[in-house]
Amino acid sequence: MRGTQTITQMVKTDLNNFKLFNNSPKVVLESHYFSAYRGAPVIRFSVDNRSFSFGMLFIQRGLDPNNESHQLIVKHEYGHFLDFWKIGPLAYLAAVGIPSILSKGNPNYYELKWEASADNNVGIKRKGVSQEALQRGTNYTNKFSPYHHLKAAKDKRKQTQSYTHIRLVGNSATFVY
Ligand SMILES: [Zn+2]
Repeated sequence: MRGTQTITQMVKTDLNNFKLFNNSPKVVLESHYFSAYRGAPVIRFSVDNRSFSFGMLFIQRGLDPNNESHQLIVKHEYGHFLDFWKIGPLAYLAAVGIPSILSKGNPNYYELKWEASADNNVGIKRKGVSQEALQRGTNYTNKFSPYHHLKAAKDKRKQTQSYTHIRLVGNSATFVY
């Protein structure tokens, strides 16, 4: 029985069940203090009874491991985890963390760009949230991503390097492909 376990026993159980690349949200929700999900460390802790993500997952206690909507919380927070490592801690705080706290209670919460980006990362499709809203989310976090800008710059350079010659007409140069 969980209720009769000592803290030491619960920590031992968490250690025994610990797999860094565990891909079961149920296993995460069965943990007492810590776990992991797809390479993300998980701590069972929340602020204001809400789960959140900041470089790792903080999942509130008291969730039902067999409840699908509770399992969805783990997946959604993992979507935020991916955005954290995509845009870095400062941009994450400014563009995701703080807006998310301020928009608590918004009836269209999961249509908000920073939330939609997290859902889109992990393929969560919610009732009433369109594919366009999900894409708007991904475009939003891309704007803050150094990797995204680097890739765009590389693609552009590749394009300009594939010309066969440059045509000079008056003062203007045209790349001929
Ligand atoms: Zn969220």
